[in-house]
Amino acid sequence: MERRLKATLPSGRFSNVPEVRSRTMSAIRGKHNRSTDVQFRMALVRAGIRGWITHPNLPGKPDVYFPRLRLAVFLDGCFWHGCRRCGHIPKTNSLFWATKIKRNKNRDRKNTKLLKSQGVVVIRAWEHSINNAQDLMRVLGSIHDIIRTTKVVRRRHVPHSKKNKSRPKHQA
Ligand SMILES: [Zn+2]
Repeated sequence: MERRLKATLPSGRFSNVPEVRSRTMSAIRGKHNRSTDVQFRMALVRAGIRGWITHPNLPGKPDVYFPRLRLAVFLDGCFWHGCRRCGHIPKTNSLFWATKIKRNKNRDRKNTKLLKSQGVVVIRAWEHSINNAQDLMRVLGSIHDIIRTTKVVRRRHVPHSKKNKSRPKHQA
């Protein structure tokens, strides 16, 4: 990864990158892990949404996964995943950050596509939506909708197939 990033830099190496960079990176990443994930899980519990696990072994490592629904939820950090509303490219070493964030976005797209091709429903929520009550309700609402739809489909499945059998073959 570092090698590929280096190739995009004019000098071919990280010049003028402060040593605190890696510490800053891990600090930001740590913050997301501690607060956003936990906040979201707490919101799920409060909303009475059950049947999910954390850290599933799936492409892109979704933050929360519902095995029965085959639903993966990603909480994308606004900085790391380049949120248009509140993400920003730092002025120092902007090329490094721009390249890194772009790479993350491409990987997100690739993983979403891969999961969908495996029949997994994917919800991607921005970190900022977890911190905003209205946005959070919308995310929880989409999960509720998927739970409801999945139940309805299951309940209807048996009578529906019986109905089909009794129907004349040529009727649409
Ligand atoms: Zn954001």
